[in-house]
Amino acid sequence: MQPLCREPLDNVIARAPHPRETWLWCLHCERFFQVKHLSFDGWRFERCPFDDCRAVGLDFDIFLWNDFRAPGAGGWPASEAELQFGMRSPDMTAWSEEQQRRERAALLTAFLASEEAATLGMTRAPWTDAVLATLQGFGMPPAQADAAFLGETLADLGFWVDCEPGDAPAIVRELRVFFRFAARGLGFEHGRACAASLADRDLPRRLRRWIRAERDAREDPAEPRLRRAVSR
Ligand SMILES: [Zn+2]
Repeated sequence: MQPLCREPLDNVIARAPHPRETWLWCLHCERFFQVKHLSFDGWRFERCPFDDCRAVGLDFDIFLWNDFRAPGAGGWPASEAELQFGMRSPDMTAWSEEQQRRERAALLTAFLASEEAATLGMTRAPWTDAVLATLQGFGMPPAQADAAFLGETLADLGFWVDCEPGDAPAIVRELRVFFRFAARGLGFEHGRACAASLADRDLPRRLRRWIRAERDAREDPAEPRLRRAVSR
């Protein structure tokens, strides 16, 4: 999308409350940066700040940060608060992983401060973190995950998360407490149903079997697999 016809960018910058803080975007390398980062091009400070990019010129290669945002485009930052120096658009992978990590950290902090976690004396929730990260990796916000999606995620858990068959009971127990809390304290729409599905007495046994199957496949040199590390 081309920017709408408007006044020259240097006028817009001059009028900004904090001109040097104004966020820009380079059409050439598709990175975000601020006016204060612009390099000298031999005449004016209008050169993209990145050494591997030779773009020069406000309103030519360099625009306001959101001039090229298509309406409703996924991945493009929603506000200046989300911008980081050097962040690329439209490839927002690193940015979205950081957003997801922060979202998980907030959920886990709330969980570990809850009465549900206190009752069990929990001070860490590594399996919850790993499962929520797996949900996020599938594009599923944890607050929207339902029991069916959670079940499918658990069936593949050994593929995505570094775990052993013997971890199955602890994984199920921790998740059950988390979703019970999430239903009560966080208003997760399907939290109660998720907690109920995790109360299935046969689930630890099935999860053990699923993890073993993934581990066996992993150890097959003909089938190299990626795993997400979990800190324990
Ligand atoms: Zn550039």
